[in-house]
Amino acid sequence: MQNSEDLFSKAQTHLVGGVNSPVRSFKAVGGSPVFIDSAQGSTFLSTEGKRYIDYVLSWGPMVLGHANPVVIKAIQDAAAKGTSYGAPTASETTLAELVKAFYSSIDKVRFVSSGTEATMSAIRLVRGVTNRSYILKFKGCYHGHVDSLLVAAGSGALTQGVPDSAGVLEDLAKYTLLADYNDLEAVNGLFETYGHQIAGVILEPITGNMGVVLPHLSFLNGIRSLCDQYGSLLIFDEVMCGFRMEEPGGVQSLFGVHADITCLGKVIGGGLPCAAFGGKAEIMDGLAPIGPVYQAGTLSGNPLAMAAGITTLKLLLDGEFLSLLNQKTSFFAQQLNQLIKDKGWPAQVIQFGSMFTLFFNEAPIHSLADVQDCDFKMFKKFHNDALIEGVYFAPSQYEANFMSVMHSDQDLEDTLDAISRIRL
Ligand code: PMP
Repeated sequence: MQNSEDLFSKAQTHLVGGVNSPVRSFKAVGGSPVFIDSAQGSTFLSTEGKRYIDYVLSWGPMVLGHANPVVIKAIQDAAAKGTSYGAPTASETTLAELVKAFYSSIDKVRFVSSGTEATMSAIRLVRGVTNRSYILKFKGCYHGHVDSLLVAAGSGALTQGVPDSAGVLEDLAKYTLLADYNDLEAVNGLFETYGHQIAGVILEPITGNMGVVLPHLSFLNGIRSLCDQYGSLLIFDEVMCGFRMEEPGGVQSLFGVHADITCLGKVIGGGLPCAAFGGKAEIMDGLAPIGPVYQAGTLSGNPLAMAAGITTLKLLLDGEFLSLLNQKTSFFAQQLNQLIKDKGWPAQVIQFGSMFTLFFNEAPIHSLADVQDCDFKMFKKFHNDALIEGVYFAPSQYEANFMSVMHSDQDLEDTLDAISRIRL
């Protein structure tokens, strides 16, 4: 048994900040991050041997729960045949077919190894095929640590206080236009000024990286129309919200607004490093080896990641997992909202699909500015107390929490009981 604090202090000697991704450092909530020994289903075991109900789920991917036996078997079988070839396998086509079964807007797919690679490559592609420079993004949306997208970025960048990272050249950042989420008027204004110079608009159609914030339908529809009017391409970054909505077609079929390019990650790799971007054939064919936009990866389409992804997506597509998962999360959010009300906390839960955020702010939340009005001190106390109770929520107010198919009624009841014991 090893103590998380000791492990963290040793890690800090050898790893920058003791972690390999900033949000893991618990900087926003204080204290030492919990070091994980193993995980199973809806829970994990810390190195101290304490069990936690996990609502972070590796920041989204583990929709079938940790160490799902079917996924593990698929990975083991694939590993026994070799872990990487750098040459084509049939499994890449199989996973692409599955992705297309979820997304009617996708004709062709390119697999990469991280969400950052997917958005970075999508940005290059839209610039390449339109021959334009400007990208429009929204404050509080996070699209990975891509230079041109680390401008007013959400998630860890915001939590660590560096939404505009050092090291991003001003000459590059100037091609990133910014608007508030849900502010169609601002988007209109930017199109009026920059119009035919805008290569693409990128957004999280349901945000997770400033917490779960929902788009107005008129906002999504308005952006779609402006893109059509000006010949700009619409990129939906569904790295987080993809495969987490009640319908297989996700946000695009629920809202009837379709993207030109969709970026996917997290769930698509079933817990292994895999992400993708895909869209209309005439756009995707702009990529090498067909087109002039270069993009490549030694481990892209890795056979282990393909096996985990195929198994995960097949299960999600065949069963009623998605709608049951949505019902479960929605029920939990309702119960939690009631509990908050009973306790008189100035807070609210926003949920969509199998994602939710508990915001410590009672006012309507439509944009980053609304999230920034939250009571961060209260969030911190809530988070610390939940950890003591054995419930692991995302360690920042600017994040989403996730549900898996393995979260049982008992888990949800235990979580609500734990929260009812918290005094803020
Ligand atoms: N886009 C979105 C919407 C994300 O949530 C994330 C990661 N949280 C990324 C892109 C970047 O993905 P990765 O961390 O795999 O590079």
